[in-house]
Amino acid sequence: MQLNVQMRVSLIAGIAVFAGVFGLSAKADVTVTQLANEGVILSDGGSARVMIDGLVVDSYSVYGGLPTEYSGLFNSASGPFSGIQLALASHQHHDHNQPKYACQFVKTSKETLFASSLQVLALMRERCRQHVTTSKQVRILDPKYDQPEVLQIGDIKVTAFLLSHGKGKYASLQNFGHLVEIGGLRVLHLGDAAMDAADFSRAGVDRMNIDIALIPFWYFQPGPGGEMVNRFLNAPHKIAVHIPPGEMVEVKEYLQKDFPRVLILENAMDQVQFSVSAPPPP
Ligand SMILES: [Zn+2]
Repeated sequence: MQLNVQMRVSLIAGIAVFAGVFGLSAKADVTVTQLANEGVILSDGGSARVMIDGLVVDSYSVYGGLPTEYSGLFNSASGPFSGIQLALASHQHHDHNQPKYACQFVKTSKETLFASSLQVLALMRERCRQHVTTSKQVRILDPKYDQPEVLQIGDIKVTAFLLSHGKGKYASLQNFGHLVEIGGLRVLHLGDAAMDAADFSRAGVDRMNIDIALIPFWYFQPGPGGEMVNRFLNAPHKIAVHIPPGEMVEVKEYLQKDFPRVLILENAMDQVQFSVSAPPPP
């Protein structure tokens, strides 16, 4: 698909970052808004708004939380956190989903459907048992390798599928990839998918025709990641994600040198907009 990016935005190349979600362009086909760590909101500029790994407020290990100026908006599900039709969590690790905040968000944002694995919901159940067990706002996803789960919520279509988090102690951890079709584009979020070519093949990632790939930054470091990106994640638009704030300067430097077209949304609420129909940038 031929795409043009509205470079309102971005990135490493030193172009000014467009921060703040309050001036969303109605023309934008897909806006990606950075939240804490690997959290994003994908929006079509209208009513379609999906959040992935966005129920994170506190920093965890070396990974960033939500800046305090946004935590009030999170708590009240307002501003950038309003109108979320669907919230997804890739896996149970606390840099991707924090049960306390996930519970609070679904209780506050009545229009949001939260859908995730049994493992994620089991941890949430310890915080808000009644809501998790009885609310229609909560749905268990249980995809198999040969049987992804498809959710259609309004104008958003999501295919949730298994991608291994790794071997050993991670072997039994459920990690979901999410392919989101929104605003005429196909956006892939990997969670903490291990760099395992056989696993990506099994999941069919090479056949997903991705327009925008959100890729953990370590895929761009020396090692197996380069081939993984070429083979499976070579979307027209790539955004490096999951970057610890303390490593941001270093990551920006090496991406700018070796992968200058890969975008970074450096701060919470930074945004990039993509459009199928916009004229090509000059
Ligand atoms: Zn993880």
